[in-house]
Formats: sequence, C-alpha cells, structure tokens
Amino acid sequence: MRKNRILGFLTALALGVALTGCSASDAAVNDGKKVVKIAYLPITHALPVFEVKEELEAADDDLQVELIKYGSWPELLDALNTGRVDGASVLIELAMKSKQEGIGIKAVALGHKDGNVIVTNDSIQTAADLKGKTFAIPHRQSSHNILLNDALAEAGLTIDDITVTELAPPEMPSALASGQIDGYCVAEPFGAKAVTLHAGHVLYSSEELWPESLCCGLVLTDDFIDSRAEDASAFVKSYQQAGKNLTKEKAKEIAVKYLQQDEDVLDTSLQWISYDDLEITEETYAILTEKVKTYGLSENPPAYEDFVKNDF
Ligand code: ZN
Repeated sequence: MRKNRILGFLTALALGVALTGCSASDAAVNDGKKVVKIAYLPITHALPVFEVKEELEAADDDLQVELIKYGSWPELLDALNTGRVDGASVLIELAMKSKQEGIGIKAVALGHKDGNVIVTNDSIQTAADLKGKTFAIPHRQSSHNILLNDALAEAGLTIDDITVTELAPPEMPSALASGQIDGYCVAEPFGAKAVTLHAGHVLYSSEELWPESLCCGLVLTDDFIDSRAEDASAFVKSYQQAGKNLTKEKAKEIAVKYLQQDEDVLDTSLQWISYDDLEITEETYAILTEKVKTYGLSENPPAYEDFVKNDF
C-alpha cells in the first residue's frame, strides 16, 4: 500500500515535470494541421505575420499560424523567453538582450523596413529645440531610443540634455496632445495618430537619421528551429514571401482587419513603411550593434553568427 502510494506520487511528479516542461512546439498538431504559435503586438510593424497567417490559411497549407496578441513588450517577451510560443515579432534590441541573457532564440527576418518617425509638438522645429524637453520611448531597448539619440546627435546633444520617459505605445498620442510630453518615437501607427489628430508633426523619419534601420525582427525559439526544422524553414520562406506580397493596398487591407485603427491614420502610417525585403544582412546588423554600444543600450550585443539565422 505504502509502496503504491509512493509510486503514485512519483508518477504524478514525473507527469508534473513533463507538463511544466511542455513547450509550444510540443503542441504542434491541431485538426491534422501543424501549427506555429507567434506572439505579436497590434502594430503595423507586425503586418507580415498577419499576412502569412492569412495566406497559409487561404491555401489550406499543412502548416498554419496561430497568432497570440499581447498588450506590451514585457508580456510578449515573457511568453517568448519561457517557450510559451514558437516565435514572435518583437523589437530586435529586446530579443538581443534575451539572447545575451542565455535565452535560446534566433532572429530569422526583419519585421519591416523604415516605418518609424520622431513626432514632436510645435515648440520643436529642429533637433536643437529638443534640449530640455520631455520625450517618450516605449522601452530603453528599442530602435526608438536609438533614433532619439541619433536625432539629438544632429544638434550635438545627448540623452542627458532631455528627460526621457517610457510609455506604452497607445498612451503616447494623448500624452503629446495633453502636453505631458513634448515628443515621442514608437512603433506605428501611433506616430501617425498624433499627426492625424494634429497633436504633433514629423521632425524626422527614421531613414533621414538611420538609413536601412533595423527595428522589429521575426524571432524563433531554438527549440522550434531544432525540433521542427522543416516547419521552421517553410514558415520563414512563407513569411518572407508574405512581406513581398504586402503592396500598399494589401497592407491597408490587413492593417484594417488586425489593428482596429482609423483608416486615415493607417493611410498616413503606411506611407512610411515597406516589407519587400526582410532579410537581416551582416552590414545592417553591424551598424545596429555599433549604435547599441555607442548609445549605452548594451555593452556586449550578440554576434551576427550567434543570433541571426538566414539559411532557411
Ligand atoms: Zn518595428
């Protein structure tokens, strides 16, 4: 009797370990289809993951995408870092930081090209006017922080010349309109929202400060890439193609469906972004790592060969 109870306890313990150790890719098959779970935030920077989901669904492909929406970068990152999803469309600097901290992930493509703006109120007409002002970014580990540093450098200023505050992206347009902040840089369409509401104007677009800037990346877990190599390869290829298929018209259609934003906001925002070539090249990554070090985001960003995988 006692022996049976101990055995039962040990079985339950083993089962518990197996369950808690369960990763996203273990639950891969659903209705006879293989599923890849991708985390995202509702921003135009994530349009290719919406498009690839739609395309694979329409083609009744053996591989399907399950999208999991998050409200903030820390929540999304937690899901990615704990293996609750197979991948994510995420700020590349946040993914670099996770990689540095030992999380097994790879950046396999870009989320978008260009598509960021620095928005300010009318008291700021040049980079020099930023001095002494309050400026919002979504996270210290972001290209938005880098673009702010780039803008300040245009006038010989540094981050120490302004007050920086971290806000959630949807809060920024109203914070600017109410005078709580003087400007911000964040994922779209939240820059376009302030412009459309006449609460701010574009001081710089990202390509004026940082040509071929990197911002969001499609990141996959090593577990998914290693245990489901064929699916990973098929998914990345379909994702790249989905980016090429995102013409302005198609991007608008997908954005209307997934982002619940006004059409005039999307029309403004989608003028600034493209998705046609989402490869992360060694050259553009080298510029990113230089900026990350120069502006103090990280002293030791991951090497290209350790972090970027583009041989699918
Ligand atoms: Zn982005």
